[in-house]
Amino acid sequence: MYAEIIVDIASEQVDRVFTYLVPDTLPLKPGMRVRVPFGPREKEGYVIRLKDTADYDEKKIKPVLAALEDYPALLPPLMALAQEIREKSHCPLCEALRLMLPAEMRGGRVKVKLEEYAQLTISPERVEEAIQSQKRAPKRQLLLTLLSDGQAHPVEELRALVNNVRESLNFLSEKEMVRVFEKEALRAPYYGRAEVSSDPVLTLEQREALEELVPALRKPGKPFLLHGVTGSGKTEVFIRLVREALKAGKGAIILVPEIVLTPQMIEWFRSRFGNAMAVLHSRLSPGERFDEWRRIRQGDARIVIGARSAVFAPVDNLGVIIVDEEHEQTYLSDRFPQYDAREIAASRGKREGAAVLLSSATPSIYSYAMTRRGDYTLIEMPHRVLDRPLPQIHLVDMREELRKGNRGMFSGLFQQKLRACLEKGQQAMLFINRRGYASSVVCRKCGETVKCDRCDVSMTYHSVDQTLRCHYCGAARPLPKLCPACQSPYIRPMGIGTQKVEEELNRQFPGAGVIRMDVDTTAGKNAHFELVDRFRAGEAKILLGTQMIAKGLDFPQVTLVGAVLADLTLNFPDYRAPERTFQLLVQVAGRAGRGLEPGEVVIQTYQPEHYAVRAAAKQDYRAFFNEEFERRKAGLYPPFTMMARFLCEAKDMREARATAESIRERITEEFRETSLFRRILFIRADEAPITRIQDKARAHVLLKLLNHPDTDRLLGRFQEMALEEYPARVQLEINPASLA
Ligand code: ADP
Ligand code: ZN
Ligand code: ZN
Repeated sequence: MYAEIIVDIASEQVDRVFTYLVPDTLPLKPGMRVRVPFGPREKEGYVIRLKDTADYDEKKIKPVLAALEDYPALLPPLMALAQEIREKSHCPLCEALRLMLPAEMRGGRVKVKLEEYAQLTISPERVEEAIQSQKRAPKRQLLLTLLSDGQAHPVEELRALVNNVRESLNFLSEKEMVRVFEKEALRAPYYGRAEVSSDPVLTLEQREALEELVPALRKPGKPFLLHGVTGSGKTEVFIRLVREALKAGKGAIILVPEIVLTPQMIEWFRSRFGNAMAVLHSRLSPGERFDEWRRIRQGDARIVIGARSAVFAPVDNLGVIIVDEEHEQTYLSDRFPQYDAREIAASRGKREGAAVLLSSATPSIYSYAMTRRGDYTLIEMPHRVLDRPLPQIHLVDMREELRKGNRGMFSGLFQQKLRACLEKGQQAMLFINRRGYASSVVCRKCGETVKCDRCDVSMTYHSVDQTLRCHYCGAARPLPKLCPACQSPYIRPMGIGTQKVEEELNRQFPGAGVIRMDVDTTAGKNAHFELVDRFRAGEAKILLGTQMIAKGLDFPQVTLVGAVLADLTLNFPDYRAPERTFQLLVQVAGRAGRGLEPGEVVIQTYQPEHYAVRAAAKQDYRAFFNEEFERRKAGLYPPFTMMARFLCEAKDMREARATAESIRERITEEFRETSLFRRILFIRADEAPITRIQDKARAHVLLKLLNHPDTDRLLGRFQEMALEEYPARVQLEINPASLA
């Protein structure tokens, strides 16, 4: 018997199967991880296929040394998926296979943890007699009493109750009354503190949604897009759907944008499904992640909740994949090999016969367009549960505030509403989206942001050389002293962050208590759970945070939501800026009024007339979609075109730039004569906006292309060429989440 093996070395040169001999003593299966000799060293590898004959000199074939596990770590459909990713992302197969496994499994960096247990070996009837026989040894008597239930007890647990437990155990096991043995222990992550809850009676909209969804568990078809307003009870739909999947003997994967954003989702699922659920996310320790992964692989946990990479969870007989908050950009991986978890979900659904459900209160332009085209099935839940009203939204024009002499960060209306909210003993949430490495430049008088002449994007302030730059076309100009639109001198980079807002809240509303949730305060492993718990317990009346608090959270006591600088995201140098702004505002507004009391929202903005802000204030998704869709069409942005870039990393900028420049030249030269050239709408080599990351200089070639099946292959060829010819690291990204 021979095995075709992919050796775990991420290099184009060894991106092919190698044939090894399978010793008779080694029962290998496809998907198993093995250790093999490779050149002078030993390497890990993956068994791709077994075969009876070798196609070359048998004497030269080396044998597989060992299997790393006694089960296939890779399920057959996931191996097929890896092939697909390799072709799409132009990466070596082993890099695609690595996505399917917890990173720490490679190189044997985590081990199965063993725990010692003690258990009686004598029959229950003889326990009393045994206890009597140890009259002069009270510790042994206590130990026997503790074990008298016949169950296996962890020695660690007994140690806490019996002094010198080891000595007693040794004695009793010598007398053959007790046995001590080792068992695999699973390291369990924190699942939050939710109590077991019972099923609510479904609303009509929830029932109707399930009537469409449940049959798809048995007969999958197109992916579904569930568009339900905030508070419409989408989670309950997920829970019931997953339960139906379990009943049919199938498993489920629920993707959430980021675990820190959705601690409550885990709590809710845990409270309904208990140990049948596992979580996979970046906050787990390596041991926890490995053990959760094994619980899934062994079929003990049939439900997986996790971030992006959980889409690769080894769930056998998959019934459904749910992608919650499907509009989130976190579903696009930024690391190589690049993938879109939503696409992977669709691909797994198709291959494994599972239903695919994308869900959002603010679907991505792409997904909603797919429902218009009939490629996805649209399900709508336009009302909140129990006839709770959507919150009332007030737009405050901050230019007006300035004219009235208010230079503070809070509008008069917001201050007044917050005071009233606190007086009634209710809670408030305050959102400020201060994120990114550089701010844009905004005129505080007229609301104008400085935009590029050639692109429909705001320019970004670079403090190093005090210039404004367009991250799309590379144009640069000095920071103007006066607003180009109204000549006012109140033109400056936006600079309020959460900390400054916290200070101001504490000054104006002493005693209310502020919990701040942002990257800085949630660094600890379970910090996000703790902050959420503290706010829910009412320890503070105000929860202040970045987009971390915008989504998914459900606090019935919150009746007021404020967005301090609502349009900050509008100024991001990205064609998706209006989409992101709309999504954020609707999501953040959706945190208000989820309990018995109706909610109110104050949106502070410098651009109240912007269509994204206006549509968000009306919570009118369709109005926004229609406008944005037309804008994308007119400007030839995705989904009408495709953005691609070659990111070139090198030791210094000169080399990175030279690489980018020569790739651009090559592409231009090679295609000038062909019809394909017309598909390239735009090509430019430039320094990347973030010029250095982890001590590597970065440059890129940006391309805007017309969609065409050939384009993909073409770009793949350039990637291969680039890898061969340039000393710099070149990486191809298609429709990247970020162009930074
Ligand atoms: P969404 O995700 O659509 O914003 P959630 O799933 O968070 O909404 O649900 C909003 C609130 O409504 C939650 O507190 C949830 O427990 C509650 N809820 C959901 N379904 C029902 C129902 N059928 N009856 C009563 N309350 C419900
Ligand atoms: Zn101005
Ligand atoms: Zn530009």
